[in-house]
Amino acid sequence: MTPGHPALAFLNSVQDDGKTRKADSFADGAGFVAILESAGLVPRGLPAPSRGQMTAIKGLREAGHAVLSAIAANRRPGREEALTLEAAIKSALQDAGFALGPKGLTLQPGPLGGLHDHLALALFDLLGRDDLDRLRECRRCTHLFLDHGRGQGRRWCSMARCGNRAKVETFRARQRAEG
Ligand SMILES: [Zn+2]
Repeated sequence: MTPGHPALAFLNSVQDDGKTRKADSFADGAGFVAILESAGLVPRGLPAPSRGQMTAIKGLREAGHAVLSAIAANRRPGREEALTLEAAIKSALQDAGFALGPKGLTLQPGPLGGLHDHLALALFDLLGRDDLDRLRECRRCTHLFLDHGRGQGRRWCSMARCGNRAKVETFRARQRAEG
């Protein structure tokens, strides 16, 4: 299952089972870029980020996740994370190229901003979507997704990653309670 917007693949680039967000889902900068490429978030061939760039990018990722996690839960985002996100987006917009066409405005990151600006602009696009009220956070991990299903709604980022394991845990807990 896809999360529903490319920027979510960036925010979801952690592999923790629970809510800790300590373990990245990539081994190095090249692995990170590969995730972004396959999500269609960045063009192919961007150089892998340096250590310093990676630190800034992870700061953006965690600020972005904190804000969008709050939105998914109908909470007001924390002030510090909101300001970090705002500063990153404003800086990326400042350098961005504007392409005006039949579909309206398309933003291209400036030549110097690199990966960081691609990601900030993708978050800007996500934040402007009118279906953001469908944003949900997985009940087991911190992955976010847009839920366009009907009925009760989707509870897990994916069945393979969290849904099946959550069912097994519930089953075992019930067995223990009965046993
Ligand atoms: Zn999950």
